[in-house]
Amino acid sequence: MPKIDDYIPIVGQSVIDDLRLLADHLKGKRIQHINSTAVGGGVAEILNRMVPLLKELGVNTHWDVIKGGEKFYDVTKKFHNALHGKEGDVSNEELATFLENGERNLKEMDLSADIVFVHDPQPITLVKKKKENKWIWRCHVDVSRPNPKVWEFLGKFIAQYDASVFSAPGFSPQLSIPQFLIAPSIDPLSDKNKELPPETIEAVLRKYNIVKDKPIVTQISRFDYLKDPVGVIEAFKQVRKYIDCQLILAGGTASDDPEGQKVLDEVMEKAKGVPDVHVLLMPHNDIEVNALQCASDVIVQKSIKEGFGLTISEALWKSKPVVAGNVGGIPLQVTHKYSGLLCHSVDGCAFAIKQLLNSPAYAKKLGENGREHVRNNFLLTRHLKEYMLLFLSLYHKEDVVYL
Ligand code: UDP
Repeated sequence: MPKIDDYIPIVGQSVIDDLRLLADHLKGKRIQHINSTAVGGGVAEILNRMVPLLKELGVNTHWDVIKGGEKFYDVTKKFHNALHGKEGDVSNEELATFLENGERNLKEMDLSADIVFVHDPQPITLVKKKKENKWIWRCHVDVSRPNPKVWEFLGKFIAQYDASVFSAPGFSPQLSIPQFLIAPSIDPLSDKNKELPPETIEAVLRKYNIVKDKPIVTQISRFDYLKDPVGVIEAFKQVRKYIDCQLILAGGTASDDPEGQKVLDEVMEKAKGVPDVHVLLMPHNDIEVNALQCASDVIVQKSIKEGFGLTISEALWKSKPVVAGNVGGIPLQVTHKYSGLLCHSVDGCAFAIKQLLNSPAYAKKLGENGREHVRNNFLLTRHLKEYMLLFLSLYHKEDVVYL
C-alpha cells in the first residue's frame, strides 16, 4: 500500500505538508463514510484509497456499506437513472421499498461519528438518526436535470444535512443547505494507475486472447446503458471501414447495479459477427484494468450521462488520447482538442477515433496534456485536501470557506 510520503515526487512536498497540517486540525474527530457497495463503480474506487490515507494522516476514519436486497437495488438503480434525467415514473410502492430498507439499516448501524459522510442516494435516509453530529451528503450523479418526483422525494432528506457536495458547477441545484463543489479524483499510485512493467501488460493481453497486431480502441465501464457500450460498437464499425483496428469493451459488475447482465447480453448480441471486437466480462482486478488501459491506443468513454467518469482521468494519467461524450463531469477532464476529443454522437465518436488513429503525433500531444491536467486537478491529494477543508468548515460556519 502506498504511503502518503510516496506522493511527494508526484505532487511536491508542500502539498503533503498541507495535508498533514489539515489532518492535525481534525484530531479527535471521527469520520464515517457510508455508501452502498464496497466494490465496483467510482465511489468504491475512491473510498478504497481515500480511507486508508486519511487514517495514515491520523484522521479517525472508517467506511461502512449499507445492506440491501435485490428489490432495493432495483429501486435505487431506477433512482440513479431518474436523477440522470431518464423519463418514467417511480411508483409509491418503490418509494416505500426504499424507505423500508433505510429503516432496516437505521436500526443496525452505529451513526454516532462526529461527521457522517453519506455518498449518493442509496443511504440518504440514514440522516433521520442525526443528532448533534454533522452530516454531509455527497452526490456523485449528474443532477442537472433530475426527474422531479425523485428529486423532490430526496429533497426532504437532503434538507436535513449540514452540507452537500457536487462534482461539477452545472449540477448545483437550488438547496436550503450549503453546497460545496469538489471534483472526484484518482490515485496515481494505486494498482489501477501505477506504472506497470511491459510483461504484466503482455500477460493480461494473453489472458484475454488479445494480440497487439493492430491498434486497440478500448472502453472500460460497468455494462450500463448510460455508458452506451452499444454506441461504441456502432462507432467502431464505422472506424473499421477505414482503419484496421480492434475494440475492447471491458467491464465488471457492481453489487448495487442490477442492470449489468441485461446490458451485457445486448452488447454480446450487437457484437456478434463484428470482427475484432473483444467483449470482456472481467473480475474486479485493478491490475488488469490498468494493463488494458496501458495497452490501448485510444480510450473511449462514450457516456450519455456521467457524474464524472473516473475512467477518463485514469486514461489521461496514462497519457492516453481519449474520446468522450460531452456530458456531465466529462468536460472538466477533457478540453476539446487540448486534453482529448469530445463527441455528441456515434458519428462524432467514430470521426474522433479515426482522427486519433490517423494522427499519432496529435494523439500523443492530447494524451500528454491530459496527464498534466490530471496531475494539476484530479489526483487524490487535492481531493483529500478539499474534503478535510470541508470537514473543518463545518465547525467554522461563521468563516467563509471557498473550495
Ligand atoms: N472499473 C473497474 N472494472 C470494470 C469497470 C470499471 O475497475 O470492469 C472501474 C474504473 O476503472 C473506474 C470505476 O470502476 O475506476 C468506474 O468509475 P466511473 O466514475 O468511471 O463510473 P461509475 O461506474 O462510477 O459510473
